[in-house]
Amino acid sequence: MQGLTILGSTGSIGTSTLDVVARHPDKFQIIALTANRQVDLLFQQCLQFKPLYAVLLDDAAVTQLRSLVKDAGLKTEVLHGVDALEQVCVLPEVTAVMAAIVGAAGLRPTLAAAKAGKKILLANKETLVLAGNVFMDAVRASGSALLPIDSEHNAIFQALPKAYNGDMSGNGVRRILLTASGGPFRDTPLSELQNVTPDQACAHPNWVMGRKISVDSASMMNKGLEVIEAHWLFNASADDIQVVIHPQSVIHSLVEYVDGSVIAQLGNPDMRTPIAYGLAYPERIDSGVASLDLFKVATMNFVASDFERFPCLALAYDALRTAGTAPAVLNAANEIAVEAFLNQRISFLSIPRVIEEVLNILPVCEVLGLDDVLAADAQARRAASQYIQGLQ
Ligand code: NAD
Ligand code: MG
Repeated sequence: MQGLTILGSTGSIGTSTLDVVARHPDKFQIIALTANRQVDLLFQQCLQFKPLYAVLLDDAAVTQLRSLVKDAGLKTEVLHGVDALEQVCVLPEVTAVMAAIVGAAGLRPTLAAAKAGKKILLANKETLVLAGNVFMDAVRASGSALLPIDSEHNAIFQALPKAYNGDMSGNGVRRILLTASGGPFRDTPLSELQNVTPDQACAHPNWVMGRKISVDSASMMNKGLEVIEAHWLFNASADDIQVVIHPQSVIHSLVEYVDGSVIAQLGNPDMRTPIAYGLAYPERIDSGVASLDLFKVATMNFVASDFERFPCLALAYDALRTAGTAPAVLNAANEIAVEAFLNQRISFLSIPRVIEEVLNILPVCEVLGLDDVLAADAQARRAASQYIQGLQ
């Protein structure tokens, strides 16, 4: 029986994780569930999974959940705040932590889980973009098992040799091919992108996801963050990672070997597949995902990525090549810009402008520890907010 903490249990990844868990009550016990402020859904999850702990960030939400839990006669202890998020990751009864908070807010608890040597199911790619070397050092030092949940990285993990140790050439790996759907604006005339709305940006053709990652997919910043994520997970340089637009989202990524073999992982675009893989690793369990019907798929297309249409992808490659605090700055500026776009304060095309401006004005520093990353993150958020204010 594995004890699980799910960070961000009310989100898209969180609810898909609980869907898989519910299919295997003999294998998993929920130790803790966490959310920002969604009391009703978290309470429903507490009724169904009876966790030992539930954590909320919002004060009013904590009070509300405490009374609901009490009235229902549940034993779940309701905790509050960022420290509590860390606390429920390091408990002795926790075997694995699903890191599914969105954005940089996921860093601290995910890092705590790594330091405590827990098995980490990593959906929160921002942790690696923000603090890749700090996080990977913590994983290596504690001997944590790190399982990528992002579908592309999960595919690459499955296509690499079992004992892959970060040495691409030693393992005969030539390059990594990271697939991307191209999002909802893949074919939208460039002249129309100025006026697209948040709802249009969030209407992803293949995947149902949270709003932040949906906007990232529309701008292809998501793919840019994933290039950086792949760099840290697989020790691949920017030149070793090629983005391939594959609109059907059936091939989730590929690994090319020096002998010309290319190994891919395929499946329906449903996050329960990588989640079930991570939960059961190294075994396989039913995820509830339907069989892939290749006859229905019928054709698969592959197109080179377009840096003019998707400047965010170019900015992410540049930040990875610059290294140091540049990816942390990129990530923070993107989070502020996406939030402003979702709140209809800036246009879709202003997102890359904000990020580029912030990257241009802030110095790049070496990352020697977590403090350097957090300082760059805070500085970039301030600079991005100021720049956005100036646009209005
Ligand atoms: P979501 O917005 O649906 O859910 C986010 C979860 O985090 C919610 O439970 C929310 O309550 C919680 N949360 C939000 N802000 C918080 C804060 N400040 N502090 C603590 N908790 C907070 O997001 P999602 O789509 O499930 O994505 C989660 C992560 O997984 C992201 O990093 C995303 O990039 C990654 N991911 C998602 C998908 C997907 O299909 N949705 C695929 C690959 C990777
Ligand atoms: Mg992905």
